[in-house]
Amino acid sequence: MKCPVCKDNLLQATVLDWEMPAYKCDRCEGVWIPANDYLAWLKDQGAHAHLDHAAATASPMDVPSPKFCPNCSKVMRRFKVLPNVDLYLDRCSQCNGVWCDQNEWGWLVANNLQDKINLLFTQPWQTRLREQETKTALEKVYLERFGEVDYSKLKEIWIWLRFHPQRGMLLAYLQAENPYKM
Ligand SMILES: [Zn+2]
Ligand SMILES: [Zn+2]
Repeated sequence: MKCPVCKDNLLQATVLDWEMPAYKCDRCEGVWIPANDYLAWLKDQGAHAHLDHAAATASPMDVPSPKFCPNCSKVMRRFKVLPNVDLYLDRCSQCNGVWCDQNEWGWLVANNLQDKINLLFTQPWQTRLREQETKTALEKVYLERFGEVDYSKLKEIWIWLRFHPQRGMLLAYLQAENPYKM
């Protein structure tokens, strides 16, 4: 199998952190994890329970260019892993193999995601990720627009109104030019 980043370099069998068998490119240090190897490794989780999470400290080096699956040559899809973190995994939708760029596997282990890789590619995970990113972006906009003091007051009022049994009447009062005029 050839490296999907370096293209002409062959991948070599290796063992990653947490005893994960994989195929590594010695040039870009990316790793290919075949789906069957990952599933077999998952089944044997108990054997890895003693391993240390703090092992990885090197920062991941994401390669954003599109890649072809080293196993079946299909274009892989890029998936973001966590909200507001620039880390993407490439996955082949045909053979379900996963490509990690340099240090990405170590990052997954350090964040205790090594046994949840299949979850990262699911619709619920990706939807929640996008919702959280939208929330963070809007919070930033509100904070800039209202300022810290007003925004904090506004949030408090919003929560109070949101669950108040007389919400409609309270809102009418607040919006009235003069609530004491018939
Ligand atoms: Zn490479
Ligand atoms: Zn494939």
